[in-house]
Amino acid sequence: MAQPHFLLVTFPAQGHINPGLQLAKRLISIGVRVTFATSDYAIRRIEKNSTTHAQGLSFAAFSDGYENGYNSSVDVNHYMGELERLGSLTLSDFIASSTKQGNGFTCIVYSILIPWVAKVGKAHNVPTTLFWNQTAIMFGIYYYYFKGYGDVIRNNIEDPSFSVSLPGLPELRSRDLPSFFIPSDPYSLALPAFKEHLDILDEETNPKILVNTYDTLESEALKAIHQYNMVGIGPLIPSAFLDGKDPSDTSFGGDLFMGYHNEYVEWLNAKPKSSVIYVSFGSLSVLSKPQMEELARGLIDTGRPFLWVIRSKEGGEEDKEEDNLSCKEELEKQGKIVPWCSQVEVLSHPSVGCFVTHCGWNSTFESLCSGVPTVAFPQWTDQATNAKLLEDVWKTGVRVNVNEEGIVEGPEIKRCLEIVLGDEEKGKEMRRNAKKWKDLAREAAKEGGSSDKNLNNFVEKIAKGW
Ligand code: UDP
Repeated sequence: MAQPHFLLVTFPAQGHINPGLQLAKRLISIGVRVTFATSDYAIRRIEKNSTTHAQGLSFAAFSDGYENGYNSSVDVNHYMGELERLGSLTLSDFIASSTKQGNGFTCIVYSILIPWVAKVGKAHNVPTTLFWNQTAIMFGIYYYYFKGYGDVIRNNIEDPSFSVSLPGLPELRSRDLPSFFIPSDPYSLALPAFKEHLDILDEETNPKILVNTYDTLESEALKAIHQYNMVGIGPLIPSAFLDGKDPSDTSFGGDLFMGYHNEYVEWLNAKPKSSVIYVSFGSLSVLSKPQMEELARGLIDTGRPFLWVIRSKEGGEEDKEEDNLSCKEELEKQGKIVPWCSQVEVLSHPSVGCFVTHCGWNSTFESLCSGVPTVAFPQWTDQATNAKLLEDVWKTGVRVNVNEEGIVEGPEIKRCLEIVLGDEEKGKEMRRNAKKWKDLAREAAKEGGSSDKNLNNFVEKIAKGW
């Protein structure tokens, strides 16, 4: 049988590239040749990083019309339009020329938000598979939204007492639903992309979806929708922090924020076991100045050490005097502020005892796989749902409450941190649960574990032409 060659395409953001590159490494380890494609800006950054030069992995770039990539000042509507228009053209040319050179593709795997990739694949007669890089529960929520529950959700989501029961999924209140469902949400225009994903799947016979989750974490949700076959293949995090099979696999390799110094590891080494609060809001979210001040106050008031990631401004813009936090000196005495870090490395460090997270799916999943309990501080998209799951389903975290202005106040942050890090039963239970999900994640990822088997079966079927 000829060696299968996969084209793996992701949306050009850190939270899509990281699990995508990890999936590429897994596929390579089971004998697949992989070409990884994302925007040319992101590919330029990835290629500079030597850790991504795995054998059997090559790169291809498509255009999104933005030389410096997407950032929050870009008009998202225009960006998504250009990404589809230029991305389709350049990806299509690439597939055509690869095929002509005898280097064609057995399968195209594509992440969320870029459903147009499936259309490009179809035009070239290459089978395509959706790589759902959020939870299976989240897939179910979008599915039911577009299959009968849209009106009731849209009409009630602004009522805080509203809740909805979707088949096979946990009961969800308004505050647990994805922000894109709120009609006034500036990013609700992302919704048609989710609808398009479903439309594409509905045209396929027996569609399979690769999901970055594992069977025991979402056993019901993975089976909730009979129409599709959802296949748990996660966690997609570097081997060194998971099964330890490849100790050299320590980074995703797709770091768009390179050049940071990792002296924070030495700082962590000097701290007692499980004492440090790690704080990060991912690669996109930017907190308002008043929210930053409250967070700083909450951290200082705990008296505990913390490692806080505050990203530099986008596009190289200088920080201004008024951006400085009022308690900068106190902060620097008690904790460490860095512009970026290797999060998987930090979460695996024995000194880290709690993660204040924005609940992006990668961060949420990384917290579960490292056994670190959380203070869930969601911002947008699927993060509120992930916060709900951490608090009520997986029970490894406590979710912050916002005040009337939408701000989480310092004392509230301190309250949550004391629950997670404290000696009361609730904190102990979270730590026990966190350990349980970490062990189950390792079980799923190891050779012969559910995710390992699922991915092998998937590749075998593709190689045999389904
Ligand atoms: N990340 C990191 N260092 C940081 C902050 C984030 O390595 O200082 C990584 C993190 O491990 C995760 C990704 O960036 O893999 C962020 O993805 P997530 O889905 O959590 O959030 P997003 O950035 O998409 O909002």
